[in-house]
Amino acid sequence: MNTLLKIENVSKYFPASEGVFFKTNKKVTALDGVTFDIKKGEILGIVGESGCGKSTLGRVILRLLEADSGKIYFDGKDILSLSKTEMREARRDMQIVFQDPFASLNPRMRVAELIGEPLRLHGMKDVHEINRRIEEITELVGLDKYHLKKYPHEFSGGQRQRICIARALILKPKLVICDEAVSALDVSIQSQIINLLNDLKDELGLTYMFISHDLSVVKHISDRVGVMYLGKIVEITSVENIFNEPRHPYTQALISAIPVPDPSIKKERIILKGDVPDPLNIPMGCRFHMRCIHSEERCERVEPELKISKKEHFVACHLIDEI
Ligand code: SF4
Repeated sequence: MNTLLKIENVSKYFPASEGVFFKTNKKVTALDGVTFDIKKGEILGIVGESGCGKSTLGRVILRLLEADSGKIYFDGKDILSLSKTEMREARRDMQIVFQDPFASLNPRMRVAELIGEPLRLHGMKDVHEINRRIEEITELVGLDKYHLKKYPHEFSGGQRQRICIARALILKPKLVICDEAVSALDVSIQSQIINLLNDLKDELGLTYMFISHDLSVVKHISDRVGVMYLGKIVEITSVENIFNEPRHPYTQALISAIPVPDPSIKKERIILKGDVPDPLNIPMGCRFHMRCIHSEERCERVEPELKISKKEHFVACHLIDEI
């Protein structure tokens, strides 16, 4: 499979504020040297606790936020070097679906206008063709023609997310970033939307980056999974490896916390010590060392690199061969 998206050593920091009257040079680390790629037609899940940088990552890829350093190649293009106009054009092929469908939709616009808006913003003027594309995508996302005349408040959460997906797909993008796209929905609706995304992927030849804090959701949709902790990818591999043979202690703790539906199956949960450290003061060495049950002296001094542990399985841990 060819690579569609390549992220090389991307970092993003936000200036910190310490109240109205105090200035500080400190920076909040959102992304710190993030490197990975996504192949055409693949679904890469990105998981981690809130504040780990996964949503910032989605926005930096689309240049809704500017990276401070690193390279991003999309379909062979160095997108960080594109002008604003060139980037606007490139965004036809890179779309995002956000968590809160209600906040993403203008309440004063009818569904037909909402779904057709991206076509008009990208210069399409042929009303007949716009209407044809609106009807085509409406049907694909499982809505009916009569829905097109309604307003967002007349729909359920799941239907509103279908409208957002239709809006994202009407430009026929190559990459769709789903940022907690099912997190605000009831569990039964979550699976409907995940099935829909899977069907549309095959039908339209899409590639997804699926960001979620919920490992069980990511398990159902991803081909590969990247686990983020405090702005870094600490493990990335196939979905089977992540769930059957997690190697990083943080991934192992996350997996152990997934509830098992069968009460007769006993599962030992790994309880992490303490809270996620302040991203204003990233710890020296391995940034996970204060919470890691395996931490040893060198973990406090030396930051582990993301290294290959076995074929296509990358882990950032000094004890990669021992745990
Ligand atoms: Fe734990 Fe050390 Fe591995 Fe970090 S490098 S995850 S502290 S064992």
